[in-house]
Amino acid sequence: MAAVRLVILGRQGSGKGTQAARLVDAYGSVHISTGDMLRAAVNAGTELGLEASVVMDAGDLVGDDLINGIVAERLALDDVAADGFLLDGYPRTPDQATALEDFLAETGTPLDVALNLDVSVDEVTARMVARGRTDDTEEGIRRRLDLYESETAPLLAWFAERELLDVVDGLGDEDAVFDRLTSAIAGRLRVGDAC
Ligand code: AMP
Repeated sequence: MAAVRLVILGRQGSGKGTQAARLVDAYGSVHISTGDMLRAAVNAGTELGLEASVVMDAGDLVGDDLINGIVAERLALDDVAADGFLLDGYPRTPDQATALEDFLAETGTPLDVALNLDVSVDEVTARMVARGRTDDTEEGIRRRLDLYESETAPLLAWFAERELLDVVDGLGDEDAVFDRLTSAIAGRLRVGDAC
């Protein structure tokens, strides 16, 4: 199978984690989650982890230069060239998106599509309240969703301008949502083949 290169975007509670895992299973691409990479560095107590943990605990974003460097290093590994990637949690800012674009242009491996798994604020709030985790207070949920909104809205426009954005309805059962995602990807790959 051809290596697919994907970005997945979605609010917390949208089912992004579940769908990302299914997509990498289906396409054999490398799952690159910057949140997971940073948490692993924090757990390992590396210098990067120490630097990142302060920022993450405050609910802020790690600096663009730092995260761009980490992602570029990961994307340069052989498995990515062979199998493609699914970026999850990156890019988070237009500056990161530009860094990604530059990297992919240099390597001659363009992105196939950025998938926005769309679930409304009301629906994700209801889902998170229903799962009842202690950090899921209504106030906490609202703050995280507000941050996501302000971070991500410019990125959606950024991908849309480059005709790389597909919005996929995230409502409904897991299989139905997965089918919508794979149909969107298949549509992009067909367009690519025709070029
Ligand atoms: P996540 O699991 O994707 O929500 O990421 C957890 C935390 O890691 C975020 O709240 C940020 O502090 C940090 N982080 C993850 N990805 C990025 C990124 N692309 N840019 C900056 N900070 C990030």
